[in-house]
Amino acid sequence: MSVSMNSTSVNPTSVTVIGLGPMGKAMAGAYLDNGYEVTVWNRTAERADPLVARGAHRAESVAAALAVNELVVLSLTDYAAMYAILEQAPSAALKGRTLVNLTSDTPDLARRAAAWAAERGAVHITGGVQTPPPGIGNPETSTYYSGPEEAVEAHRAALEVLTGIDYLGEDPGLAALFYQLLMDMFWTGMLSYVHAMAVADANGVSAARLLPHASKAMDFRYFLEFYAPRIDAGNHDGDVDRLAMGVASMEHVLHTAEASGVDTALPTAVLAHFRRGAAAGHSEDSFTSLVKVLRP
Ligand code: NDP
Repeated sequence: MSVSMNSTSVNPTSVTVIGLGPMGKAMAGAYLDNGYEVTVWNRTAERADPLVARGAHRAESVAAALAVNELVVLSLTDYAAMYAILEQAPSAALKGRTLVNLTSDTPDLARRAAAWAAERGAVHITGGVQTPPPGIGNPETSTYYSGPEEAVEAHRAALEVLTGIDYLGEDPGLAALFYQLLMDMFWTGMLSYVHAMAVADANGVSAARLLPHASKAMDFRYFLEFYAPRIDAGNHDGDVDRLAMGVASMEHVLHTAEASGVDTALPTAVLAHFRRGAAAGHSEDSFTSLVKVLRP
């Protein structure tokens, strides 16, 4: 099915999804599962085929995709992709649209996109999805949103088809900021997991065997709840852990990786941070004193 530019629908069970990577595909699929009229557009048009087979409408152009629905969900690699796509349509095509931008990028770019949309008569809601595609459609997962609360509320039902709503405030940069903070922790943490798995593998220990131990080690809740109030209070006392111990501990990790023939760039970088903290006079303080070293 294809859609050409015609009358605008404000039907709340009708949505346009632009961007059909793994995430956009899951989102368009969730709308179809919930009985929505779904119009899709993707740079690589054939990625829409399975959705069209399930009843989605393939827009023949970006302008056509914008013309049919007030609610437009964007799921792209970055904001540059958003401009590359939306600028294919005349700017009048954005008038009256609500752009729910579930694309990752920086807080500043989210703020600029909100202003860019407003200049064209559109509303921009920033989103940061906190689940991989299999979690789309599960109300227990959630997405950070920021931007005009009124617009989020007006589209609550449609947004909740995707995930739960974690609304952070009017600043369009907030959802992007919280998302990037999570990604900062997620990618660094998961890389530590991948590195440890390489060391485990070199020592004949399978990921499955380590799983129950890895799960416990990666559950940082206790540490976060212990350190968060201390960090906010500027308390980096070494009463529980001392950076000097962290330096020695990371040396043991590094030497174990070295002896296992595994790349040491990651433990070397962690050790370098700890040594910088020690050189700045924090040997007797907690490793959380690195917050001050990283942001003097
Ligand atoms: P992808 O990077 O796979 O998304 C690719 C989409 O962006 C495709 O539709 C692609 O089009 C389009 N695209 C990229 N560059 C351009 C361009 N220059 N012009 C036009 N279209 C472009 O990401 P995902 O689908 O995995 O994720 C989408 C967003 O959701 C990302 O911002 C991601 O960070 C976020 N996210 C992803 C999660 C995941 O687990 N996948 C989890 C949480 C958030 P084409 O098909 O033509 O290449």
